[in-house]
Amino acid sequence: MTATTSSGPTAGAPLTFPVTSSAAPVSEERRAEILAAPGFGRFFTDHMATATWTRDAGWHDTGVVPYGPLQLDPAAAVLHYAQEIFEGLKAYRHADGSVWTFRPEANAARMDRSARRLALPEVGEQMFLEAITQLVRADEAWVPTGGETSLYLRPFMVATEAFLGVRAAHEVKFMVIASPAGAYFPGGVKPVSIWLSQNYTRASLGGTGSAKCGGNYAASLVAQEEAYEHGCDQVCFLDAAENTYVEELGGMNLYFVHDDGSIVTPELTGTILEGITRSSIIDLAKDLGHEVSERRVSIDEWRQGVASGRITEVFACGTAAAITPVGRLVSVDGELSHGTGAAGEVTLKIREKLLDVQYGRAEDTHGWLHRLV
Ligand SMILES: *Cc1c(COP(=O)(O)O)cnc(C)c1O
Repeated sequence: MTATTSSGPTAGAPLTFPVTSSAAPVSEERRAEILAAPGFGRFFTDHMATATWTRDAGWHDTGVVPYGPLQLDPAAAVLHYAQEIFEGLKAYRHADGSVWTFRPEANAARMDRSARRLALPEVGEQMFLEAITQLVRADEAWVPTGGETSLYLRPFMVATEAFLGVRAAHEVKFMVIASPAGAYFPGGVKPVSIWLSQNYTRASLGGTGSAKCGGNYAASLVAQEEAYEHGCDQVCFLDAAENTYVEELGGMNLYFVHDDGSIVTPELTGTILEGITRSSIIDLAKDLGHEVSERRVSIDEWRQGVASGRITEVFACGTAAAITPVGRLVSVDGELSHGTGAAGEVTLKIREKLLDVQYGRAEDTHGWLHRLV
């Protein structure tokens, strides 16, 4: 699917993102300071990609412009009815200085799926790739070098039409911003602890669980607060219908490693977000000789599996952290520790393989890398 599927005068012509350079970019010294310890999501580059869609004109006013605040009418639909979607992917600098991203076509396709669910217009692969490519080229100096650093890219779409009636907006904006990201585990890979949410669910059948939308995150924050109160880093949600099956964390998918080397991830039921890291691990783990299955996993299977030794490792995955070992599961019923408290062997092996492909240290046998600079 391409941007040319949108209606309006732009139909037929591939969209470009001409660059208007910032007249006041961050100084070289300040940028170096930021890149030395960027953390996550705290600093932003000099530019942003932007495009406007209207029902009558389709996509237009595309470009890369100086980064800065938006002017939004207080009646903009997104501020009231949360008509919003987003994506997340990274640009990785390879040892030879080139800059690559990982499976961006999958992010583009997912953004269009999310758009359809949230009654927003599709962007299409061509426009999505053009926006991220021109932005990363304009802000190439912001792509950090070394370790597990990257430039995190955040495409998103919001309903900007000033109208309080409840219907799909007739005017929206698609934008991409970029934020340098440090290594997720600067002190070495460390297992996270997980709080099992039993008071709140994340998504229900027919809802928006499989769309990457801000509303899902808004609904998960109170459970995340509960997790913090119980000394945990992340929340695990169960299915809303039976409160029995493990779905995912607030922003990461889950994997279980068994004592025979087989690995399992909860199957996509319509309520789980289809992570690109999750999909990639299915292929990489098979390459590494593991049997991989997608099926329902109950919370009892998790508990009993760890107790009996059948489940030897649990890990979470997503673009931000790649792969994170799960060390503890905490709930009102008590606490369950996994393994020795250190990251598991299979978890680390798959993690290394994934990062080796992303950083150009291993052969890209699946054709997942896409060069940006
Ligand atoms: C983005 C996201 C993930 C991970 O997806 P990736 O494509 O691997 O980054 C998992 N769960 C939720 C709810 C998400 O929003």
